[in-house]
Amino acid sequence: MTRNKVIVVGGGPAGIMAAGIAAQRGSEVVLLEKNERLGKKLLISGKGRCNITNATDIEGLIENTPGNGNFLYSAFYTFSNEDLIEFINKLGVNTKVERGGRVFPASDSAKDVMHALHTFLNNSKVKVMTESAVKKILVRDGNAKGVELINGRIMEADAVILAVGGMSYPGTGSTGDGYQIAKKAGHTITDLKPSLVPLVVKEAWARELQGLSLKNVAVEFRNPNGKEIYNDFGEMIFTHFGVSGPVILSASRHLLSYDFKDIKLSIDLKPALSEEKLDERIQRDFDKYSRKQFKNALDDLLPQKLIPVIIYLSGINAEKAVNQITREERKGLAALFKSMEATIIAARPIKEAIVTAGGIKTGEINPSTMESKKVKNLFFAGEIIDVDAYTGGFNLTIAFSTGYLAGISCGAEAEAD
Ligand SMILES: Cc1cc2nc3c(=O)[nH]c(=O)nc-3n(C[C@H](O)[C@H](O)[C@H](O)COP(=O)(O)OP(=O)(O)OC[C@H]3O[C@@H](n4cnc5c(N)ncnc54)[C@H](O)[C@@H]3O)c2cc1C
Repeated sequence: MTRNKVIVVGGGPAGIMAAGIAAQRGSEVVLLEKNERLGKKLLISGKGRCNITNATDIEGLIENTPGNGNFLYSAFYTFSNEDLIEFINKLGVNTKVERGGRVFPASDSAKDVMHALHTFLNNSKVKVMTESAVKKILVRDGNAKGVELINGRIMEADAVILAVGGMSYPGTGSTGDGYQIAKKAGHTITDLKPSLVPLVVKEAWARELQGLSLKNVAVEFRNPNGKEIYNDFGEMIFTHFGVSGPVILSASRHLLSYDFKDIKLSIDLKPALSEEKLDERIQRDFDKYSRKQFKNALDDLLPQKLIPVIIYLSGINAEKAVNQITREERKGLAALFKSMEATIIAARPIKEAIVTAGGIKTGEINPSTMESKKVKNLFFAGEIIDVDAYTGGFNLTIAFSTGYLAGISCGAEAEAD
């Protein structure tokens, strides 16, 4: 019986799923994790609520995976989002569906998901070893034969599953170790780029708005030729370098192919009102505050922090009496509310991104098994692979589905042998 003994490297969602499933298929499994505990990133996912998957169909999963989604057909058909929901429900975690099909634990607690995964590992009799960082995969005659830990310890195995994640949020343990490990084993690593990442804005006024959170705004991103790339509605926040928050992170994946450069961001501060209606509204406020100065006439329309910036961008003198503001100036103000423009010049570094785009070249992995085409009995799972998706629970789905497929592929053959 080959693949009797399986080593899984990385105790995130991909590695945990792979380990538990390989063990259930009859292998003796050791899960090696660098940190003192498993699943640090999972615990902070979805702001601690863990958006575990998405209630779409398989085509929807693929469409929401701009980074090599087609590579994942087998993984998603073998273990779909519905299977994942059933899996987690059976472990005692009830789920609920929110906006955009996002699936969360009903308790809003990533800790409950993590607790369930620990139960799964225990039930499957996986041996978990924490504080065990792997340095390299032992390859003999084109076969993975085990691993070497950074402390020099050699651990033999019949198969190795590498699931050490990408290089985003390194504080969680995903420090990009896997790329060097895979490279040494003969694999190609594609360009690594930040995705689902905050964006840097050129204009200085944006930094003055640091800390300002805008809810219910519409955003539109245009390329240097003025063509729309992406639009969305929701929440964003200004930071010391530019912009972040849900709509910005979602948008960022669409800007990756432009290298995040020279993109126009237009913010509609009042999406519920047409420019005409907004002008009427401003007119009413101007009638109300007709004897005041312009700078004191916007309190009903805008958050305090935004007022000086809007005044600056409007080009209207802040001290001007409201009743002296011309019709043209007022119309210009309405247009500004509908389209506050900033220039995106870069993304923040990968360590600040929610996911790493790029990774182990998909062409070097068998999509039906997750086995390496270069090294026999070496498997990959999760974010280390060159796949990445939009926000909405898709990245965790990738981790669990590829983990399942890698686990079943090891264990299945062990059973058949
Ligand atoms: C702030 C944040 C919020 C997120 N929220 C969501 C969300 O709500 N929904 C969603 O779908 N996705 C979300 N994601 C993305 C998602 O969490 C990741 O895509 C997913 O965790 C990847 O799983 P993984 O198992 O491949 O890797 P990871 O979760 O990164 O796990 C890899 C593990 O390997 C270990 N490791 C690394 N190197 C070694 C080594 N040399 N030896 C041994 N162990 C090693 C690490 O310590 C880590 O525990 C979020 C990401 C971040 C950063």
